[in-house]
This record gives sequence, structure tokens and C-alpha cells, in this order.
Amino acid sequence: MTTTNFPKATIEGYPRVGANRELKRALESYWAGRIDAETFESAAHSLRLDTYNRLRDLGLTEDYAIPADVAYYDQVLETALTVGAVAGETLDDEFTLARGNKDTAPLEMTKWFDTNYHYIVPEIADDQDFKAHPQRVIKLVEEARAAGHTVRPYLVGPVTLLALSKQAEGATKSPLDRLDDAVKAYQEVLAELNKSGVKWVQLAEPALVADLTVANDEELAAHTKRAYEAILAADNRPQVYLTTPYGSARKGLEVLAELKPEAVQVDLSVGTLALDEGYLERVKNLKSHVVAGLIDGRNVWAANLRDLRSKYEDLEGSLDSLSVSTSVSLQHVPHTVEAETKLPADVATWFSFANEKVKEVVALSQGPLEAPEAYSISDRAVRTRAESERIHNAAVKARIEKLPAGEVKREPAFAERNEAQKELGLPQLPTTTIGSFPQTKEIRQARAAHRKGELSDADYNAALKDEVKSVIELQERLGLDVLVHGEPERNDMVQYFAELLDGFVTTENGWVQSYGSRCTRPPIVVGDISRPAAMTTEWSKYAQSLSEHHVKGMLTGPVTILAWSFVRDDVHQSVSADQLGVALADEVHDLEETGIDIIQIDEPALRELLPLREEDRKAYLDWAVRSFRLVALEAKPTTQIHTHLCYSEFGQIIDAVAGLDADVTSIEAARSRMELLEDIDETFHSEIGPGIYDIHSPRVPSVAEMAELIRAALKHVPVERLWVNPDCGLKTRGYEETEASLRNMVLARDEVRDSL
Ligand code: GLN
Ligand code: ZN
Repeated sequence: MTTTNFPKATIEGYPRVGANRELKRALESYWAGRIDAETFESAAHSLRLDTYNRLRDLGLTEDYAIPADVAYYDQVLETALTVGAVAGETLDDEFTLARGNKDTAPLEMTKWFDTNYHYIVPEIADDQDFKAHPQRVIKLVEEARAAGHTVRPYLVGPVTLLALSKQAEGATKSPLDRLDDAVKAYQEVLAELNKSGVKWVQLAEPALVADLTVANDEELAAHTKRAYEAILAADNRPQVYLTTPYGSARKGLEVLAELKPEAVQVDLSVGTLALDEGYLERVKNLKSHVVAGLIDGRNVWAANLRDLRSKYEDLEGSLDSLSVSTSVSLQHVPHTVEAETKLPADVATWFSFANEKVKEVVALSQGPLEAPEAYSISDRAVRTRAESERIHNAAVKARIEKLPAGEVKREPAFAERNEAQKELGLPQLPTTTIGSFPQTKEIRQARAAHRKGELSDADYNAALKDEVKSVIELQERLGLDVLVHGEPERNDMVQYFAELLDGFVTTENGWVQSYGSRCTRPPIVVGDISRPAAMTTEWSKYAQSLSEHHVKGMLTGPVTILAWSFVRDDVHQSVSADQLGVALADEVHDLEETGIDIIQIDEPALRELLPLREEDRKAYLDWAVRSFRLVALEAKPTTQIHTHLCYSEFGQIIDAVAGLDADVTSIEAARSRMELLEDIDETFHSEIGPGIYDIHSPRVPSVAEMAELIRAALKHVPVERLWVNPDCGLKTRGYEETEASLRNMVLARDEVRDSL
């Protein structure tokens, strides 16, 4: 092993999609057959070199400072292909694994730790060969070298890769049982990198910061010991830079102190240190070169460089050698604040996106004497932000202070409300939908034209009203019981509210990769949140005026709004959650005033923010549940409050779901064939609508199939408490299949009801 120093400043990773979403365009053009593989590869190649050049210009000038964390679709899939955890040679193999094709289902996709990024879940069969494909990484190294860059190859480490993988159907071994096989493949890749002269390789092991269902902290630490004893024992390898982003390592950190990989990155962001106060001290036990992940890669706030520099100096006093990095990959933040032309001038200086964070890393490693300007910019941002009226709203604070602390509870209790709500006159096994109806090309075009100023407010609203009218007519034709207005006015269920609430800003170009070519533009919570005016009443009132049936009001809950936004770092998230809770409570009140008596508060992201560590979960669920209850707190007993959850398995948090104390809970269940009902015990007292058709595919489920699912649900839920609805909103579907599916859904309900 030949050695060289680790760079003084680096980053864990960088956004891959490109400042102008070049990769997204290239991917989608290739998938649509508009460009060939060669053109695609060449676009991706230029993008990579542009990125390396930019990172060098931003200050990552040392060898190995730039990570080559390249992936066309996803970093986990990329590593899985490199070490043969899944089989695939070509570009098309890779995309088939990620997206499926007409004969093959895609691999599953799920959340990457507690972020909004989704990774592809490798499925590992007993006979999976773990055949190494080192060329995938070597190619990147050589391409960069030819352009004058000495980059650092990036792989997800073996423990994390297997811990996040799934046992293939019929396999007898769990993925972690295959650790030794995987390690051999990593060794081969490392040996090839060594041969080609690479001196540092990055192995990301974020599993070390989580309590996973497949393995707890102790077990993951033991796997790490086993894997890295083998990897580090080899001499024909580059130096190993092991990273532990997304939280604090516990048992794993002790193991790393024994193993002594050549360099270790630790997440020392303010958020991580708040959850684990002793972490900074424990990190001092490491015997490796330590890379302090001080710059927070998960939020968009300019760093307090002086504060961070003092942490750096504290570490410097106790450790032999130290560098600076980001806490996590910058893939979770947009490219650059420079692309934002419409941010208020004061606000713009408070932000730091990927490029700005790279500069912060460099300035932090240099110190205030060498980089005085960066420190004075940071000082100013910290000061103006702390003093800004935009952030501190006395009226909001006063209102929150008046709230009771701890648990809040809607009165009267469910049983009495349920009785009162009989006056709604709903039939047995009522049918409804989750809110959105297909967002047609016409709606999207109208929205785009309106945004560009080509369509007047009046014309845009008229177009949306036409849509609401046709959605109401369709539901009446189909014979649904509780109608919705269809949400055509919402570009996105979070952004819509963020644009109407005070305390948020939205960006023009703040795109962040969600998965594959899909990007979102999360709003940013900058300060205290309040509601200047009603947000949804006009639409609900109009829809209700068109029908004798009940029309459901439709709100996004506090937790989901926060989960899909960038949050404040100057207050605990629960503060913003309370503020959203009361702002939305005002909306509930206004909806009631306009005659709406069924209101749904969507919380699809409730599970998403669940802390990675077991011991942090209760505190989270307490404030999350409280914020939801605040929304419904003052609702009339006769107002039926619904909630909706999806995207995950709820077993783990079923008590919290019950704790929301909604009158009706609709929940995704079709794909797992109602498995979740097993989790619903006596504590779950509300009415419930387990989704009976999967809206993620255009397939039209048959009447028989849905009737069977209703019957399955009736085994667990008494008929007076069961609702019939799809799994989720219909926004991404087309009208043709939606109409056919909903017709079958109503027929299935009729069939079951007739047979009771
Ligand atoms: N009401 C929303 C819709 O139907 C809910 C979406 C969601 O749960 N993700 O689109
Ligand atoms: Zn949903």
C-alpha cells in the first residue's frame, strides 16, 4: 500500500443531476429513445467533468478531495452492480433493474436513511455470485485523470449495502449472511484500484448510525468488524476512507477505533450533536485520520463558521490529524444560491446550497486568518438572521405560548364524536377517494402558462373550476359517497401550502434528486409560520356547491409539510410543527364555516421522519402526534376528521397512527394485500379505510379482486368502521383507468354489502 495524506478539505458527495438537471434530461431522452447510448454516455461524461472542474474552482484542489460519487440512477444500485450483488452488465440492464420493462418488474425503491432520497433495494438470491466489476470504477478514475483530476472513488460499504438489501423471494440466506462473499468482491475492486494507482477509496457506511430492523447497533458493529478486518488486512489496496454520515455511530465507533482504517469521517452537524451530546468527545478516541463532517449537508443554512471552527480546534487539540468535510453528501441540497434571482436580498445571504457549502468546508479547514472574508460573510449572515423580523413573529410566538404543553386532546372523545357524526348520514361501507384526481396535460399546461404570465389569473381559475366541476360530475356518475374536489390547483401537496403560508420561501431552481431522474423543489421554512388568509376554502366551497353529497376538505398535515421542506436549524422542529398545527387549525375552522363537515388532514410522511435511533423515536412521535392533534383540536364534534397515510409499513408506528385520534384513517394496504391489518389491534378505535387498489400502476383491478380485499378487511375491522377507498391520490393516473377502477371499486363495495 502506498500512502499519501488525506486532503484537508473534502465533501461526502455532490449532487449528481447537474445544475440545470442535465442528467435528468439525458436519462429521459435516452429512455424515450430520442438519443442513443453513446450520446447519453457522452452527456453524462461532460457533466462529470464539469462537476470536477467546478469543485476544483470552489477550492477542492488537493488530490482525492473530489469524490467520484457517480451513479446514473442511484448510488446503491451502482455499488451493487460493481460488487455483483445484483447482476447486470449494460446500461440497459441497469435501467431495467431500476425501472422495470414490459416483462420485468423493477427492484423496489425505498427511503435512504431519514432523507427524501430513495435508493434501489438490491434483491439477493442464494446463488447471487458477487462477481466484481471493477471496470465500473476504474473507468471513472481514468476519465478524471485524463482531464487532470485525481478523484476519490466512492462505494457504499459492504455492511450498509447488505443491510439495505432484501432477501430475494425463495432465498434462505439473509443478505448479511453473504457478507464474506461481498467482502471478497470489494477486495477485488480495491485491488484493481490499487493497481491503477488509486491511493484513497471512500466506503460509505451510514448503517453504523442507525437501528435497522434487520440488525441492531451491536450486530452492525460486529459485521463491520468482520468485514473490515478482512478488507484492511490486504496490502494490495488503496487507503480506506470509511464514512459514517446521517448521525452518530455508537458501538460502531468503538469498532472503528480498534480497526483503524486510514481515515474515518464522522457526522458532527449541529443536529447530530444535539441528539448525541457526547459524540464530539467520543470521536476523540479514534486512532485514524479523522474527517470532521462539520458542515451540515442536510439543510440549506449558511454555517456559523466561527462556532464550527472552535469545534474543529477542539478536535485538533486531541487528534493527530484532522480534515473537514460535510456531515452527509450534498446530494440532498440544491446546487447553488446563485441560481436564485427572486429571493429577498436578506434571505439569500442566509442560505448555503451545495456550492456554497463546498466553500464553507474549505474556509473551515483554513481558519479565519487565512480566509477572513468567508468568516465575515458568515458572521453577517448569522447576525442578520438572528435579528430578522422575517423570522421572529411575536404574535405567532404569543399564540403558541398559550397552548397547553405536552399532550393535547380533542373533546369529546372518539366514541361520542362518532355518535354525533351519524348525522352525516353516510351509508354502510362508504366509498371515497384520497383527494387528487388525474392531473391532466391540460392542467399542467395551464399552470405553466399561468406561471409564465401567459394565462391571466381569471382564466387560470376558470380552467381549474371547470376541472373541479368535471371531477364532481364524474364522482356522482360513479356513485361515490364522499366526494373530493380533485386538487387540480395544487402543483404539489406541500408546495401549495408553503406558497400560501408566511414563514416559508420557495426557490426557482432549488432542485434536489428524489430518485432516478425525479427531482423535487422543497420549500424552505425560514421563520415563524402563520396563515395570512384562508388557503383552501374557495375550492371546497365551490365543489360543495355543485353536489348534494359531502365534499371532503383537503389539507396537508404539519409533519408532512416539514418532512418535505428544508427546516429551520435555529429552533427545534417541534416549534415549527406547533405553528403549522395552529395555522391549519384556523383553516379547519374556516372550512367548517363554509359548510364543509368532512376534512382530511394528510400525513403520508409521518413514518419518514422517524429517527434512525430507537431511543429518539418516542420524543419525535410525541411532537408529531401533538401537531396533528392541534389541527383538529377545536373541530366541532360533528366534523369528521380524516387522515391519510401511505408509502410505508406502519407496524412500527401503529400506536402513533392510532394516537392521531382521527375519526377516519385511510392507509395504503393494497400492495401488501392488507397485511397491515394484522397490526391493528383494539387500541385502534377509529374508522379505517385500508386502500383496496394500488394506484401506482395503470392496471385496473377487477371487481372480484377488490371485493376479496374488502372481505379480508372485514375479518379485522367491523363493518360499521370500514371505508372503501384506493391506496392514495390519483394524481399520477390517467382518467381512463381511474374511471374504470373507481367504477369497479363501487361495484365491489355493492357486492360485499349485498352479501352481508
Ligand atoms: N390528498 C393527497 C392526494 O390525493 C394525498 C397524497 C399522498 O398521500 N401522498 O394527492
Ligand atoms: Zn397517499
